[in-house]
Amino acid sequence: MKSSFTIGQLFDIPVKIHFSLLIILPFFAWAFGSNIIYLTEYTDIARRELIFNPYILGAVMSVLIFISVLIHELSHALVARKNGLETTDITLMLLGGLANMEDMSEDPKKEIKIAASGPAASLILGGVLMLAAVGSPDFIIEDIRLVILYTGQLNIFLAVFNLLPAFPSDGGRILRAFIAQKKTLREATEIAARVGKGFSLFFGIIGFMTGNFLLVFIAIYLYIAAAQEDQFNNIKSALSDLTVGDLMTEDVKTVPVNLSVHRLIEKMFEDKHSGFPVTRDDKVVGVVTMEDAQKIPQEEYSNTPVQAIMEENIHSVKKEDALFKAFELLFQKDIGRLIVLNDNGKLEGIITRSDVMTGIRVRQLENIKKERE
Ligand SMILES: [Zn+2]
Repeated sequence: MKSSFTIGQLFDIPVKIHFSLLIILPFFAWAFGSNIIYLTEYTDIARRELIFNPYILGAVMSVLIFISVLIHELSHALVARKNGLETTDITLMLLGGLANMEDMSEDPKKEIKIAASGPAASLILGGVLMLAAVGSPDFIIEDIRLVILYTGQLNIFLAVFNLLPAFPSDGGRILRAFIAQKKTLREATEIAARVGKGFSLFFGIIGFMTGNFLLVFIAIYLYIAAAQEDQFNNIKSALSDLTVGDLMTEDVKTVPVNLSVHRLIEKMFEDKHSGFPVTRDDKVVGVVTMEDAQKIPQEEYSNTPVQAIMEENIHSVKKEDALFKAFELLFQKDIGRLIVLNDNGKLEGIITRSDVMTGIRVRQLENIKKERE
């Protein structure tokens, strides 16, 4: 099952929504709605001046806040594009968003620009909205004024929160990029991840002491993210001089698009393979696995071609790509194998999760050996 779905495109970048967002949105609506009483006092707007039910305003707020997050992520993506890095998609999820872009860590100056652009957009948006609310003419109903003011404040909060040096947040990336100008990237990531873990522990303790469980939740999320980034960093340096070509399997068995699913299953048993690239006129047009076959009832196996059940959206790498790139793709897309194509789109091999894991294990053994010598 896919964990996110595409809702549209902005500047040629697909915008996706993660299912976790659909769960949290009603909660946000409720939380914002409940907060309206406190807000009306705080913002000098009498509650009886409001026309709409606070929970309706809360629902509007929760949508506006995710549009704000989208603007924040889009700003990262557009500045990245200006610096020659493409963003494959923007995913809105439980705790904000994620612009899925190429690795930018090799160039600290670019990374600072890209990481800072998101919080900068949030700050500007927040400032403009707050000014608009304060300076709005009298005929504007109080409900709108309140929503604009609160959205403005939340944008400022979004900027500040993202600027905290809790790697891999924007602030953490900026911190790492500054350190990376003096030390190696690996050391910089290690330090930034340590600062990130420290911050999340601090948040966690504060959250527990004040009974603020949202903060505890954020702390756990940040800790996991920092630990994962640290682990990624170790794998990256372990795989640093290996390419896809070093570990891929070259002799790949393929199946033609018009092969019946019945024959496909037979072939899977014969060859002891659970997945095959699918070809039409020597070009790879999809991938088919055992799971795809389970999408249709068995009695249809004989008269259904592989084409009807294959996955057309194929993920590929090139032979000369860094092995770490293959690792990242397998991990991000949560898939088992990648097709290796040459510049003309011709099949050159296949690389699986276990191939990459072999690379990591071999390197770890080599390192242990080196340490012993
Ligand atoms: Zn950001």
